[in-house]
Amino acid sequence: MATPQQNIEPYPVPAAQPAPAPLPNPQGCQFCGGTPTLKTTVRGHQGMVIIMRFLKVRGLFCRTCGIAVHREMTTKTLWQGWWGIASLVIAPITLVINLVARVRFGRMTPPANGMRPPLDPGKPVIRRAGAIGVLAPFLIVGAVALGAELDDSADTAEVGACMHIGGTENAPEANVVDCGSAEAQFKVAERHEGSDAHCDRTVYSEYAEYGGRESFTLCLAPLP
Ligand SMILES: [Zn+2]
Repeated sequence: MATPQQNIEPYPVPAAQPAPAPLPNPQGCQFCGGTPTLKTTVRGHQGMVIIMRFLKVRGLFCRTCGIAVHREMTTKTLWQGWWGIASLVIAPITLVINLVARVRFGRMTPPANGMRPPLDPGKPVIRRAGAIGVLAPFLIVGAVALGAELDDSADTAEVGACMHIGGTENAPEANVVDCGSAEAQFKVAERHEGSDAHCDRTVYSEYAEYGGRESFTLCLAPLP
């Protein structure tokens, strides 16, 4: 009695196959497959005034791929991280968190046994064009401070400030001026919130503003 095996056609010799791809090492770098790896997260932040984007690459990084991703994310954050009030706070936090990952990458040995070459780390962040973006927060803060400095409108007048009142009787233009300048006519003796406060008119001239951002009354002592 024939055994079933004897009735089976000879198994065709398979055509030459490409060598099977090596199984990815589950402990290997998610980009190149190399080892050793560090399990961590590299973040980026983009502020866009209204919306914000939180970027995140999580997983296993070898030294080279980790440095490549860190440099990419850091440059993005330096360039695009600042554009919004919240972002001015979030961007530096992102950079500091990334710095921790960067230090740990730097302590690793270069990857070996990868399936493909690791990512190109490229130039250090400091030599990339985007790094100039690190100046953005200083420029923003500087511009705001300069704007406040240049704002000489009457609503910035504090007690002791000197004023020049120009314009016409019906449309006076009051500006804060330097007390040493020839334009200085009055010194602010009192400042009251609201436009219904009244100065002692036997001593002071009065300047009131209302309907704008805030209502206030300035009692002005004439300068000699
Ligand atoms: Zn890698």
